[in-house]
Amino acid sequence: MIKNYENLKGLIWYNGKFVKAKSAKLHVLSHGLHFASVTFEGIRIYNKKAFKLKEHINRLFDSSSMLQIKIPYSKKKIINACKKVIDSQKLIEGYLRPVVWRGGQSMAPGISNAKINVAVAGWKWPIYYSNSAKEKGIKLTISKWRRPPAICAPVKSKCSGLYMICTLAKHDAEKKNFNDALMQDLEGNICETTSSNIFFIKNNSIETPKADCFLNGITRNEVIKLCKMNNISIKEKKISLKNLKNYNSCFITGTAAEITPVNRINNLKFNTKDLILKKIIYKFNKLIKN
Ligand code: PMP
Repeated sequence: MIKNYENLKGLIWYNGKFVKAKSAKLHVLSHGLHFASVTFEGIRIYNKKAFKLKEHINRLFDSSSMLQIKIPYSKKKIINACKKVIDSQKLIEGYLRPVVWRGGQSMAPGISNAKINVAVAGWKWPIYYSNSAKEKGIKLTISKWRRPPAICAPVKSKCSGLYMICTLAKHDAEKKNFNDALMQDLEGNICETTSSNIFFIKNNSIETPKADCFLNGITRNEVIKLCKMNNISIKEKKISLKNLKNYNSCFITGTAAEITPVNRINNLKFNTKDLILKKIIYKFNKLIKN
């Protein structure tokens, strides 16, 4: 378990070159640091291979373009950098973190001449939810923080600025002894947790919130595809917090969480042994082993 990522060993790909992780620094006067002009990805490595690498790098470019950031490297170059990081860090089960940020050409919001920096770091996979948490299911609480609507922020971008409320929500949840927090939109519809998407099951059919103001996860899309391929009814719709009691089962999806059952949301209990849920976990585990 890494206690301080600033002590990471090995090499980081930094603006086109490999540098020692210890010297992969940014200046204190970087626009990214002050104004959150940062986008990033989180990619899981299974058996030396990055899962859905192309999809993640496409999203990195999309997230950046939503922040008017033009990445000065081709997608192919970044994909190759990711592969080289896997090799140089000797990662078998691991994690990749590509990150893009604006440099220090201005210390005000407007920065038309920004230098765009790109780095890719990688490390051994640290367990996010233990096997026993995955077996028993996790506990979610409802956050007081709401996802901003699409007219207030680039909600589909995986950009650092939007994670401010995720950190606050996660800290509040952990203080109350929950694993994570579930955020709603301004109208009281369920959105996502602080680092995963959410699905509900009732009477053998699955429903998931429409990704209109939160991250449309790559794992979420894989699960939707798996449902379609296996004739499991799947609907994307607005799901009001008030209607949660109508569902029997619930699970979250994400690069870190993979597919993790939820055993309760506040005091509302869910069945973590649902057969459809087990089937999806089984199919997903097969997919990541390919
Ligand atoms: N929502 C948020 C806020 C996240 O950080 C993540 C993790 N990237 C997800 C959803 C799930 O996305 P993915 O399946 O692409 O990891």
